[in-house]
Amino acid sequence: MKYEAERRALIQTALEIYESQLVVGTWGNVSLRLPAEEAMLITPSGMDYKVLDIEDPVQVSLDGSRIQGRWKPSIETPLHRRIYLAMPEVGAICHVHSPYASAYAVAGQAVPVVLEETAQVVGHAIEVAPYARCGSEELAEGTMQFLKGKRAVLLANHGLVAAGKDLADALKICYIVEKTARVSIMARLLGQVRELSKEDINALQHDFTFYGQSKDHT
Ligand code: 13P
Ligand code: ZN
Repeated sequence: MKYEAERRALIQTALEIYESQLVVGTWGNVSLRLPAEEAMLITPSGMDYKVLDIEDPVQVSLDGSRIQGRWKPSIETPLHRRIYLAMPEVGAICHVHSPYASAYAVAGQAVPVVLEETAQVVGHAIEVAPYARCGSEELAEGTMQFLKGKRAVLLANHGLVAAGKDLADALKICYIVEKTARVSIMARLLGQVRELSKEDINALQHDFTFYGQSKDHT
């Protein structure tokens, strides 16, 4: 079977969004770009993440003309396709329905950059794309307008989309946005939400490229 490692990684990520409660049931979806094919691998629609098998991810060409696999692909395939076509830097996408990010998506408010991690990993407030029903071309189009040049966007009354360089990166964005949403709601309960300045966000993002065991700051 072709793309065995990629299929395993996709299934592992799909299982993780379920086990870490970024989604409940079969909601959410995950995809991975296949650069050599001008295609992506995406989770099948409405299937139990716990029993996904190596043959279950569906290969869909980025122009939508070719679908290979034994199942129907995620209903959000138009959204994933548009992101890969418009954003060459994106290698993987995670779409989740996590509760604190969803609270912002329901309130119609952007998740503010209130933590250093938010600045380091995401680098911008997470805005809300206008409401359109799940799986629609309208949702795909509207969401793209807000995501272009960014890393994450909220879908009104729905959830979160994270666009990363690979699966681990897309998953990390989901975790950080969810944590930021949770902390900022708690801070608001305590009385005030102090956002980081644009200057600090830029500096934190720059310095983060040297974080950990990566090469020294120059
Ligand atoms: P799929 O199961 O078709 O991926 O749909 C889930 C979802 O979250 C739709 O927005
Ligand atoms: Zn969804």
